[in-house]
Amino acid sequence: MYYKTYSEIKSGLNDGSLNSFELCNSYIQRIEAIDPVINAFLRLNKAKISEEANESDKRRKNGKPLSDMDGIPIGLKDNICIQGEKTTCGSKILENFVSPYNATVIEKLKSKGFILFPGLNMDEFAMGSSTENSAYQTTKNPFDTSRIPGGSSGGSAAAVASSMLPLALGSDTGGSIRQPASLCGIWGLKPTYGRVSRYGLVAYASSLDQIGPFSNDPQGVIDVLSVISGKDLYDSTSANTPAFSSIDAGKIDISKIRIGIMKPNPSEWEQDIVDRYKQVVEKLAKSGAAIIELDFSLHSYSIPIYYIIATAECSSNLARFDGIRYGLRVDNGGKLEDLYINSKTSGFGDEVKRRILLGTFTLSSGYYDAYYGKAQKARILIKKSYDEFFKQVDFILQPTSPTTAFKTGERTKDPIQMYMADVLTTSVNLAGIPSISIPAGLDSKGLPIGLQITSPAFQEGKLLSLVNELARYPELKIQLPKEIK
Ligand code: GLN
Repeated sequence: MYYKTYSEIKSGLNDGSLNSFELCNSYIQRIEAIDPVINAFLRLNKAKISEEANESDKRRKNGKPLSDMDGIPIGLKDNICIQGEKTTCGSKILENFVSPYNATVIEKLKSKGFILFPGLNMDEFAMGSSTENSAYQTTKNPFDTSRIPGGSSGGSAAAVASSMLPLALGSDTGGSIRQPASLCGIWGLKPTYGRVSRYGLVAYASSLDQIGPFSNDPQGVIDVLSVISGKDLYDSTSANTPAFSSIDAGKIDISKIRIGIMKPNPSEWEQDIVDRYKQVVEKLAKSGAAIIELDFSLHSYSIPIYYIIATAECSSNLARFDGIRYGLRVDNGGKLEDLYINSKTSGFGDEVKRRILLGTFTLSSGYYDAYYGKAQKARILIKKSYDEFFKQVDFILQPTSPTTAFKTGERTKDPIQMYMADVLTTSVNLAGIPSISIPAGLDSKGLPIGLQITSPAFQEGKLLSLVNELARYPELKIQLPKEIK
């Protein structure tokens, strides 16, 4: 059962050939069989899942399903609050933290009858590109378990790619949905900033963070986005635009669209990625799309801009984890300041500490203008460059990542190398626009390649129409692994 696509599961539940209890229990069996190798789950509450699935089956039996998605399982990255459940953010400092309330996305998923599978592993506080920064475990790539699944939502991506779930939610601040989706051969969308409420998502960098779906087919992305999007009074940055509806993703005529591309960069991108990118661009051109090469030279600054803004915001957001209000408290009976220092010293991992220090430095009075102020100005230039691009094109097509999945441990000693994994994804977050990673076949090592498609703000409908179209290209298809080695 667990090899089915999201769409097959949905139609099976609706035509009565599947029931949620058996479906969820088949996923539980799959998780128990292969997660000891993949390490995607930090915990699994089998009794609760079975109970919720049973309730869903009863609703369907009584002819009162909450929606046509009632009974479908979905995984949750461990930074999304669920009432009465642990939310660790992959950090020791929140090891025993239990959320007192539901995130808005959780309320919305529950209202449609989704079955929640919480506890997917992540880089601590969503800081990382490989899921090696989790304080608990290192998640593995289902295509090759000696490699990383990408990050920070690596648990979510690996769970879907290894058929432990058809769907999952992640969060994307600089690439954390798209990059792991790419490295794991599945679909992963970062919606427009403000499209989905951040209420109940533990903040990393509030002006960049956005929750979004992973799925093993495009329809899963479309359906989940239609459920979780919309204005929320609990999040003042959620947008007042009409919520996304699945009918917004309709048909698209490739011969009428203009696609912006970037010049392939063989010194930074792996050759197989260069080749696949060129191949897809040629095919789109043959189908009649207008192909326009854009000038991305300004975007070479997106990594430094992103790391100044993201670390500044994280130093402020993470100040609340002080040993008093939340989570771990290390109190040796000394002064209050010692309690703060000891709690943070033992609760946070190295990468989180590095970023708090960096962010505190760039916000300090002597350096604010030189770093943070300048980064904010440069961010506006990135945003403007997209405004200019979208005068010329309808979509932008790029690789999601310059490389396929790298080996576990390969980049942990060099933070800059790790940061470069997001060289193609961060500028989209700086501009607040939507972008999706789609599967684009395998490289010569058998590892997934991903392509990233970006559209203007709030045009997820058009974006997902194009995604539906590209999902038909046989050369982009990826068979998810059945055997995990
Ligand atoms: N890898 C980037 C970082 O470490 C992006 C993370 C994210 O999107 N949450 O900040």
